[in-house]
Amino acid sequence: MNIVLLGPPGSGKGTQSQLLAESFNLVQLSTGDLFRQILQNPHHPLYDELQIIKQGKLVSDEVVNKVVEDALKKLTNAKGIIFDGFPRTVAQAKALDRMLSSLNRKVDVVIDFNVTEGVLLYRLLGRRICPNCKRVFHVNQGYIECLDCKVKLVTRDDDNEEVIMKRFKEYKEKTVGVQEYYRDSNCAYISLTIDDIDTTPEEVHQQIISELKERDLV
Ligand code: ADP
Ligand code: ZN
Repeated sequence: MNIVLLGPPGSGKGTQSQLLAESFNLVQLSTGDLFRQILQNPHHPLYDELQIIKQGKLVSDEVVNKVVEDALKKLTNAKGIIFDGFPRTVAQAKALDRMLSSLNRKVDVVIDFNVTEGVLLYRLLGRRICPNCKRVFHVNQGYIECLDCKVKLVTRDDDNEEVIMKRFKEYKEKTVGVQEYYRDSNCAYISLTIDDIDTTPEEVHQQIISELKERDLV
């Protein structure tokens, strides 16, 4: 089962991706994480190209598709893949279909996270991340270190109000087309609405599982 997660920054794609990967033994592919890894290495051929991430803009389709294609080559044995942060444009969605069909795979499920802007801002401005395992915490939880790795939590460079507003704008402009693309395709389309800051990741995960069960997908 291959799953695409759609949703604005802060909608919980990364967290749900982790939970789904654990529950169903799937592999996660996060373009954001791949890019942040590349940005750790100034000698990487894509280092300069990826600087625009700091402005909240999208990386070009050509570069994203190449990075995803390379990452997919390493996942030939995966039972299923969860795409987090990809595709973000219709061109990327089409490229993904091509890449997957050459591997005899397809997008089986799309999960679309509709989260109100108030909830998104609350989460992003308070987001603290484990640089090691990428687990996400909220500043209000009061943790300084990752509960699993005991590594000091960090704030993402692009989690500040100015850049967040640009990321929202980019998301709105580009992703509507991707939603339409998948609604018109024959994969299962699960749409979730989250409008309460107190909704826990576990609650959302259980909701996803029940939607998957309803469709006989798990
Ligand atoms: P978020 O969804 O919270 O903005 P991500 O970690 O998914 O964060 O991505 C961080 C940044 O990396 C994005 O703001 C964008 O600049 C870039 N990026 C990630 N995935 C893509 C993609 N599929 N297409 C273009 N740019 C991307
Ligand atoms: Zn950790």
